[in-house]
Parts: sequence; C-alpha cells; structure tokens
Amino acid sequence: MAEDYYSLLGVPRNATDTEIKSAYRKLAMKHHPDRNPGNKEAEAKFRQINGAYEALSDVKKRKLYDQYGEAGVNAGGQGGPGFEGFGQGVDVNEVFGDLFENLFGGQGGQGGRRRTARGNDLKYETTISLEDAFKGAQLPLHFQRVESCGGCRGSGGKPGSGVKRCTQCRGSGRVQVSQGFFAMSQTCSRCGGEGQIVEDPCKDCRGQGRVRKEAELKVKIPPGIYHGATLRISGEGEAGPRGAPAGDLYLEVHIKPDPRFERHEDDLSVHAHVDIATAALGGTVTAPTIDGEPVTVKIAHGTQGGATLRVRERGMPKLHGRGRGDLLVHVRVEVPRDLTARQRELLEEFHKTLHDEPAKGDGGVFGRIFGKD
Ligand SMILES: [Zn+2]
Ligand SMILES: [Zn+2]
Repeated sequence: MAEDYYSLLGVPRNATDTEIKSAYRKLAMKHHPDRNPGNKEAEAKFRQINGAYEALSDVKKRKLYDQYGEAGVNAGGQGGPGFEGFGQGVDVNEVFGDLFENLFGGQGGQGGRRRTARGNDLKYETTISLEDAFKGAQLPLHFQRVESCGGCRGSGGKPGSGVKRCTQCRGSGRVQVSQGFFAMSQTCSRCGGEGQIVEDPCKDCRGQGRVRKEAELKVKIPPGIYHGATLRISGEGEAGPRGAPAGDLYLEVHIKPDPRFERHEDDLSVHAHVDIATAALGGTVTAPTIDGEPVTVKIAHGTQGGATLRVRERGMPKLHGRGRGDLLVHVRVEVPRDLTARQRELLEEFHKTLHDEPAKGDGGVFGRIFGKD
C-alpha cells in the first residue's frame, strides 16, 4: 500500500503550492541519488517523493488525488473542464535544475544520467484582474521562441546533406576542462553537445535546425486561480535540437490587488458602511460582490463596527473543489460628520436619555461607549 502523498512530503492537506514545493526540495536534496550513491533505500524514497510531488504540484492531479486517492492520479487522462491543454505532471529537473547542476556538478562524472536533449522551457509572468481570476480567462500570449526550422525540417542540414563527427569533442559531445584542483566535463561549445556537425548547413538556420520566431498562444486560466500559481503548458516551450521534443511553457500568474475586495484563499472580504441608526436599530446594507450582483445583508440591531457578516458561496470559485468561498462583509459604522438642526436636536435628546435612563443589563449597545469597551 502506497504512503499518503501529503505525509510523504510531510505537509498538511491544505498546504499551499509554495509549502509543497519547499518541502519537496528539502526532501529531494536529502534523498537525491547523487548524495546517496548506491543507497537503494534513498533511491526508492527519492522516487516516492517525486511521485508525490508530481501529483500534488499539479492543480488537476492534486484535485483528483484529494478525491480519489492514488487511483485518481494514475487513472488521469480525461481533461476536466477548464484544464484542456495544460500539461500533466512536472519535470523534476526543471523545478530545481540549477540547484542540482551547481551542487552536484551537473551531468558530469556519473555517466548514463545525461538528460534527453529536449528544448528549453520558457517562463513568463502575467498579471490578471481579480475578476479574471474569478471567471477564468483565455489569455493571448505573444512571445518569441525557438522553433523547428522549416527549411531543413529541424535537421540543420540542406536536404541530402550528411553529418560528420565533431572534431573538438571527438563525437562525445563533452570536453574536459580543469579548474584549479578539479577536472570537469562541459558541454562541447562547437557542436552544442551533439557530438556531430552538419556537413552542409541549412542557410535559414545556419545549421542549428531551429530558428527564433514570434509565437502566439491562448492560455486558459482556470477560475479560482491563486496569486503566484504557475501553469504549465506542455510542449509549448522551445523546439528541441534535431527534432527532439520541445520544452514546456510555464506561466506564473499574478493577480492585481483589487480596490474593493481582499482575498483570503477562496473567501473575499469587503467593507460596508452602516449609519449609526441602522447599526443600533437593525436593517440592511448592500455589499458589492465579485460576480457583479450586489448582495443585501441583514444587520441585526446592536451591530458593532468591525462586526463581520458572512455571506455563503459568494467568494471565489474553489480551485480544488466544488462551490465557492464566502463573502465576508466587514461593518464600518459611520458617525455623521454634519447634522441638520433636526438631527442634532434628536441626537441631543437621545444623548440626554442615556444619562437619565441608562440601558439595562450590560449597559446595552450604548453602555459600551462609556468605558467598558
Ligand atoms: Zn534550417
Ligand atoms: Zn563537439
């Protein structure tokens, strides 16, 4: 029986993406095969935590896992609404590739662990409004990327042209360099690690097999997306060398602060201004909502400034579940700045009654004005 993904990573079930990522990084560092050569146990653990992270770092997979457990993640496949076109899983190397490259000297030494040559991943950021995060959006993304060359179909050579062994690395794709006490192996600069060079290079791409082009893509933002979430669009990164698979495109989504609403996970809060009479006597107040339809909220008599009224299911859509968060209406009691003669008269009379006939019990609503609070 497989261990629960959350306990594998040592995070609570409601952990944020950042918490999951950070827990994963720590564990992966500890159990990485490069740090535990020949340790089968560490290797198995490393595989387990990778599996757990792959599921929990992907919005859709996490949702399935939360609902159906491991079976849901492994069954996968059918794209749910709002998630078509998003890649599945994560590329472990990508998450902290640089870190390992630096710590463990990259792919040097060990042998056989060389990554399959695939195109570079691209990372972009975008900022959307809270409304777009509520409704979901189709964002047009214009960017430059390296694509497979049409002239040579990615081969880098003129049609019919052959390839020859790279002379600089003698076909190995790597060269030895020494730095102080260390001898390290580096990707060959002449052939880019290919080990071979095209005899008669294509003019369009100068033998690279790839050219830089303007690309346009529509990215689907799922409703309820969080600030700082990263979407992965599989295969929309840069073309790989010599027809190798393309990398992925990552889009980090930021949400602009909204002038009206403050977001706490799936809940939204808003301020509503209530006059002193309504606060004391009771009544209603109207509050804006993110879906555009204002909501009328009941104010109980004796409502204090700072009170919070909860309107169920009027917040943000839940990314990891059904339904919506709540709208929290924070009451602000407004004391009138200017009074008409009549209002002043009434208020003065009212004021007098507070001294002549103090409220019962704990002092009532107005009793608290005089000291207890
Ligand atoms: Zn070409
Ligand atoms: Zn070379």
